[in-house]
Amino acid sequence: MVNALATETSLPMMLNLAPAKRVMVFAPHPDDECIGCGGALALLAQNPEVQISVVLVTNGDGGEHSPDVNMGPRRLLEMQAALKVLGVSELKTMDRLDGRFELDDQFETEAQQLLQAFQPNWVFLPGPMDYHKDHLLVSKGVESACKLVGSVKQLVYFETWTPLPATHVLDITSVMDLKCRALQAHHSALKYGDYERGVKGLNAYRGLYLGFDRFAEAFVVQTRAEFENPSSWLTQLKGLGLSLKSRLGART
Ligand SMILES: [Zn+2]
Repeated sequence: MVNALATETSLPMMLNLAPAKRVMVFAPHPDDECIGCGGALALLAQNPEVQISVVLVTNGDGGEHSPDVNMGPRRLLEMQAALKVLGVSELKTMDRLDGRFELDDQFETEAQQLLQAFQPNWVFLPGPMDYHKDHLLVSKGVESACKLVGSVKQLVYFETWTPLPATHVLDITSVMDLKCRALQAHHSALKYGDYERGVKGLNAYRGLYLGFDRFAEAFVVQTRAEFENPSSWLTQLKGLGLSLKSRLGART
């Protein structure tokens, strides 16, 4: 589809899902999989030849400011229900601390083991410049682990707390209702914010690239050659993101 805007600006490309065969998703917390790439997962799950495995990194217990021993198990059930709506059944957990995730060698080793076992050719992961520290560190750790696993041909960074300088967009209009239904399964998270409204707004904004009345998810896509290249534009942007984060941190 040609958008009038496209003649005047350089817009993100369409994400072609056809090469995705084995897809692994790393979600720092329950709900990130819906917000960041719920539409992509719903579309991928419609193809019976695509295998999808979602990894929940933290225990989702509410973080250090509001820890609740019942919260983690409850949010895990909510995430299972959300994935069921999207058509995804495989969910693995890494049980790291919510809100105080530590990036260490053990995490990278465990992530590498999960990748080796599943052999994904695509990996979805949080954006590398996210405002949420857990997201930022999970992104970094997963990316390092992916460099050590040859099956991974493409990284697909999704946006949650921070919009990305997107390279690709995916038309999710046909599954937007499904994505919203999946998000509604995250009852605990929805008590802290109207994520459905936020996600609809973000996906409507991204849909503007495609024309009228569209919803889209936006991503930064990196091929293996790109994510292995230390001087790639994304690596430079990450440096910018980290310096922005330290400036924001310095305000408080
Ligand atoms: Zn999160």
